[in-house]
Amino acid sequence: MRHRLLASLIVLSAFIPAVAQQTTPGAVVYTVSFPAPEHHVAAVDVTFTNVPAPTLEARMSRSSPGRYAVHEFAKNVYDVHAFDGKGAELPITRPNPYQWNVSGHDGTVRITYRIFGNLVDGTYLAIDTTHAHMNMPATLMWARQMQDRPARVTFTPPAGSNWRAATQLFPTPDPLTFTAPNLQYLFDSPTELSDHVVREFTVANAGGTPQTVRAAIHTTSAPGDIETYFQGVRKIVTEAVTVFGEYPAFDTGTYTFLADYIPGNGGDGMEHRNSTVVTGRGNVRTGLGTASHEFFHAWNVERIRPQGLEPFNYEEANLTDLLWVAEGFTQYYGSLIMGRTGLSDLRRTVSAMGNLADSVINDSGRQFRSPVEMSQMAPFTDAARAVDPTNFDITFISYYTYGGAVALGLDLSLRDRTNGTVTLDDFMRAMWKTHGKPGGPQPGLVAKPYSLLDVRDRLAEVSGDRAFADDFYRRYMIGREVVDYARLLQRAGVVLRKRSPGRAWAGTLRSANTAAADAPNRITTLQAPGTPAYDAGLEQGDVIVGVDGKPVASIQEMLDAIAARAPGDRVPVTFTRGAAAPRTVTLTLAENPDLEAVPMEDAGGTPTTEQKAFRDRWLGSQQRR
Ligand SMILES: [Zn+2]
Repeated sequence: MRHRLLASLIVLSAFIPAVAQQTTPGAVVYTVSFPAPEHHVAAVDVTFTNVPAPTLEARMSRSSPGRYAVHEFAKNVYDVHAFDGKGAELPITRPNPYQWNVSGHDGTVRITYRIFGNLVDGTYLAIDTTHAHMNMPATLMWARQMQDRPARVTFTPPAGSNWRAATQLFPTPDPLTFTAPNLQYLFDSPTELSDHVVREFTVANAGGTPQTVRAAIHTTSAPGDIETYFQGVRKIVTEAVTVFGEYPAFDTGTYTFLADYIPGNGGDGMEHRNSTVVTGRGNVRTGLGTASHEFFHAWNVERIRPQGLEPFNYEEANLTDLLWVAEGFTQYYGSLIMGRTGLSDLRRTVSAMGNLADSVINDSGRQFRSPVEMSQMAPFTDAARAVDPTNFDITFISYYTYGGAVALGLDLSLRDRTNGTVTLDDFMRAMWKTHGKPGGPQPGLVAKPYSLLDVRDRLAEVSGDRAFADDFYRRYMIGREVVDYARLLQRAGVVLRKRSPGRAWAGTLRSANTAAADAPNRITTLQAPGTPAYDAGLEQGDVIVGVDGKPVASIQEMLDAIAARAPGDRVPVTFTRGAAAPRTVTLTLAENPDLEAVPMEDAGGTPTTEQKAFRDRWLGSQQRR
């Protein structure tokens, strides 16, 4: 361990003069080395030259692109030192928790620090003896007033390791040195250093130029599973392009799936301009649904970019009204493309669509927030941590789900009114042509991000019907109404039906999983407005002691008693709350409202020729069209 540390320090000190000669003047130069990977620590060395102010304001990010809560990456930074261009150590002050101020420099400031990281996912930093899995906002310090500077990064793997780099950063002749044109691109570029498998194939960009799609796979899964995954990725990529009609021009001529499937990992997928981080603890084969979602983001969010995310602010949480499009429409297409490739069978694809409809029809969150308002909740719900409880379970529907349901409703509505000649694919293509394809002044920047009203206007253009677009926008996008999913799905020979018809139901009632004596009887779930339990005045924390005059030993016994009754029955329930004496209220049971979608063949029906054709145009592969 110690000899490795010394070796890496020697590399660091030898590094700076050599690289300074071959780097753009003013470029920010990083080296990242791993003197003690078994302790999950990286050593970072960064040199800022031509510093434009008397005080360099070096910072760790508070946010990370594609994840919307604040994360405080400064927390894992320690052993920070600053030096001037002659190597003299400079004092550091801390004006806030995220910032290191360095004054008295000679135009050059070199900062060295150590950083701990041990979570493999699409946001954080993970280092161990098998790899360094780096999301850059969680790893690299940057400086205010210098975000437009190009950057150069050299990775120094542990001595004796066989690590190679996979990244969307721009390559150089040195396989472990990369560049980025600016901070936005640098921080959009996760990098995996490991002994991984690389598989690739070629696709043409819009101009016909060949570009590479590559999967860098770090996994303990068997070679056959890696092959299955790679072939699945290939099917996904070649199907996804049919929605937009062309691939983006990837900035480096390459798009990379950074797949990391190892026991102990977090499960995640994170989109970037020319790559995605896809992680999980299971077999790599299980990651195709995530790959399908993330690759769609190469267009939708990375280039078709909502205002509010452009440019991404690394100092604050980023707020946009549009995650129901950026994530929700991507969620819908992730499932649709899995269906169109055949990687997901008809039953499973239809079931996923039914789940989207079920959520917006039944979840109580829609009583309080529209898709736009759900999007505005992202900084509090997307991997956010707080100590005090929330009631999001009953007031929030994920913009993935809600936006997916809007996409489903819009796709089917467009197909319904035009007999399949205008579809959501046409809408996505219009968004691409107007907002995505024009690109930006530099890699990492988007010139024409879209607004909420742009969504309405593109819909008006594509449908050729301004009144339809205005109405859909007002009712289902900024409003909280739901389309008639049952009627629309019927056109594709899909039945949306009650999952448990005739079954009595009181709400979502589950018991505590703690050691407390009353745990089996205590309600742990928040009660949703409009449910029998809510209307009767029951709430999370209440301890149920009797149903229908008989004692019960657990919430499960209460549910069993309810299951034996019929919707409409009135059932007395006795409970205790805190230290108060037991009380009895009356539950008026409802029918279980849960919905599921099934092909009508599974519901005793036979689709007509017209229904079969509608279904095939919607769920069949578009590659032969
Ligand atoms: Zn996504």
